[in-house]
Amino acid sequence: MKKNGTHTACVHEGQIKDKQFGGAVSPIYLATSYPFLDVQEKRYPRYFNTPNQEVIAEKLAALENAEAALPFSSGMAAISTSLFAFLERGDHVVFQNEIYGGSHHLVQEEFSKYGIEYSFTKGMEISDFKNEIRKNTKVIYLETPSNPLLNITDVRGVATLAKEMGLVSMIDNTFASPINQTPLDLGVDLVIHSATKYLGGHSDISAGAVAGKKELVERVMYKGRNFGGNLSDFMCFLLERSMKTLALRIERHNENAQFVAENLVQNSLVRKVYYPGLSSHKNHELAKRQMHGFGGMLSFELADDLDAKVFQHNLKMIKPSMSLAGIESTIIQPSLTSHALLSQEERMKIGISDNLLRLSVGLENKEDILEDLMQALIR
Ligand SMILES: *Cc1c(COP(=O)(O)O)cnc(C)c1O
Repeated sequence: MKKNGTHTACVHEGQIKDKQFGGAVSPIYLATSYPFLDVQEKRYPRYFNTPNQEVIAEKLAALENAEAALPFSSGMAAISTSLFAFLERGDHVVFQNEIYGGSHHLVQEEFSKYGIEYSFTKGMEISDFKNEIRKNTKVIYLETPSNPLLNITDVRGVATLAKEMGLVSMIDNTFASPINQTPLDLGVDLVIHSATKYLGGHSDISAGAVAGKKELVERVMYKGRNFGGNLSDFMCFLLERSMKTLALRIERHNENAQFVAENLVQNSLVRKVYYPGLSSHKNHELAKRQMHGFGGMLSFELADDLDAKVFQHNLKMIKPSMSLAGIESTIIQPSLTSHALLSQEERMKIGISDNLLRLSVGLENKEDILEDLMQALIR
């Protein structure tokens, strides 16, 4: 059968037919109790197999070109369950140096307690990943585009390395969304999302998801049964509603971010702009090769004599907020949030100055977003 287009998959894939009334949307099934005798599949919310959970699984699997998927109650539930599904005492895992702050905390605060060894790469080149592989390495974990500098990892390169070494590769695909990047097509084993971000997209859902080969996703599911972290049916319904417009939203996020990035570059009060869609981005060619779009996230550095806090107070529409990927534009100063625990010297070493701002470009008119930034850019 011909595979549906992306927008069609967003709208229709996985939807439950309302056989009772013929309604246009999936009914919400809240039951926590299902038949036990004489049934092949015993349904239970923590088994990740209620009807509404299966809607999300099927829709995401279609978008990620995956055999199977699972919805979780948060991105961190998806990440922790996936990692613990493939790691045990004595194992080692290689993490990309630049990963989401929460993932970093999980590793640093929990792993040694369970006897799991880990190392972070020194850079984002394939050789950096190779250098960290040990005899007991089981998993390679990457995240691209990275937060907050929008660096790009060669997904196919790292996936190939993992295959050669017999390791499981996992990617946090949150920033790109399945519309802009389908890592399974590039050879990665497991794709993870914080659905709190683009999949939800309206700043009103906490959720996560995992997608990949059936056999691997099943292993995550069995670990998930022990850890909990399944998504409620109400939230599945809301997430399904959001995902119907995912492809449409991402197209506009891409367009708006490209416009804002190209205009910021030309402003003398902006020292540097980080956006993979700019030809000046150091990994632009790689991004073009492996991404279908460049995304709605960008970062920029104000001129040295400007103050990032004053700039944010000057903004009228764009809201300083820790979260991202909503329909509304938001901005954050990484030196005060994700990288607050590092010293200024350490931050400078990895390119995160106090004047760096991360912008989540929303779905407002692109001219209005730019106008707000411009009127706030004053000496
Ligand atoms: C937000 C985020 C997460 C964590 O997701 P939660 O839903 O907050 O648990 C993981 N990875 C990335 C890239 C994120 O932006």
